[in-house]
Amino acid sequence: MSHAPILLTPGPLTTSIRTRQAMLVDWGSWDRDFNQLTASVCEQLLAIIDGSTSHHCVPLQGSGTFAVEAAIGTLVPRNGKVLVLINGAYGQRLAKICKVLGRAYSTFETAEDQPTTAADVDRLLAADLAISHVALIHCETSTGILNPLPEIAQVVQRHGKRLIIDAMSSFGALPIDAREIPFEALIAASGKCLEGVPGMGFVFAEKTALAAAEGNAHSLAMDLHDQHSYMAKTGQWRFTPPTHVVAALHEALQQYNEEGGLPARHQRYADNCKTLLDGMAALGLRSFLPAAIQAPIIVTFHAPNDPRYQFKDFYERVKAKGFILYPGKLTQVETFRVGCIGVVGADGMQAAVNAVAEVLREMEVLDI
Ligand SMILES: *Cc1c(COP(=O)(O)O)cnc(C)c1O
Repeated sequence: MSHAPILLTPGPLTTSIRTRQAMLVDWGSWDRDFNQLTASVCEQLLAIIDGSTSHHCVPLQGSGTFAVEAAIGTLVPRNGKVLVLINGAYGQRLAKICKVLGRAYSTFETAEDQPTTAADVDRLLAADLAISHVALIHCETSTGILNPLPEIAQVVQRHGKRLIIDAMSSFGALPIDAREIPFEALIAASGKCLEGVPGMGFVFAEKTALAAAEGNAHSLAMDLHDQHSYMAKTGQWRFTPPTHVVAALHEALQQYNEEGGLPARHQRYADNCKTLLDGMAALGLRSFLPAAIQAPIIVTFHAPNDPRYQFKDFYERVKAKGFILYPGKLTQVETFRVGCIGVVGADGMQAAVNAVAEVLREMEVLDI
């Protein structure tokens, strides 16, 4: 490889040189300048959802799953019960978190190409009054399916229950307005649509809910109430912060705003997705999801039928041409995935499609 490949994966993803250069500075975690950097990041993150009056932004060291686990552990009381809506691997993971943390939960699972509907949630909440929280994966990254967040949020509110949203792969690219969509917590991370590097998650937690959550957490390090109160008091992270990750995210947010914020990021990803879908369709590769429920984040494609197609060989050959793809995550059908997010535009997506076309020719894959 003469130069680094483009990552067409759902995080870590391709970042800009500016973002990577921001990591060339070492910061003192106790220093005023670093505290200001953290405060500025949190403020900018809250602005993306218009949430500064209703929610706190609580950053947390670790990958996105750490923040999901922290949100469940902190906000769901020990006698609460979570209804987990599942249509893929991240929904399964959320249910597993509830299980490990010892929170009561029930699951509602639809097929991987079937969004959960508001009517489903309405029926489930009416049938089980013990449910205190509903957990939803906004864009289920294992396929790229978009679940109908606004409709589900309204139903959850109508039943007087609380909504926890894993918006890890949609935050920053798909619009979510905290003034219109009622939720107790929304979770995302540095290394997805904001185009930062991986290493920190963050939870937008409703101020009143977070204040009431003292003592809920099963864990010291994962206690968002404690993390928030310490930060509010001192301006510092409780334990060693991922300083370079925060600095990179700050720089990535600056570029996000220069690009035109959420509408521009959404448009670029939508263009990427369209270029990808059109280009692959021209090669005969079929996408797993119908367009109406496909989020412009990551696309799942059916693998070719031809026995000469093997994912590992295909992957290595596409990588040699400069693009990193992602394996499928479905159990029933053979698929592979291509991300639309990161520092890449429609030209890059077309180049990836061209690389796929060349590789299929090289492999003599005919039956697509
Ligand atoms: C990436 C992602 C996560 C977090 O996964 P990590 O492996 O911890 O980074 C959680 N939920 C969704 C929907 C994701 O896309």
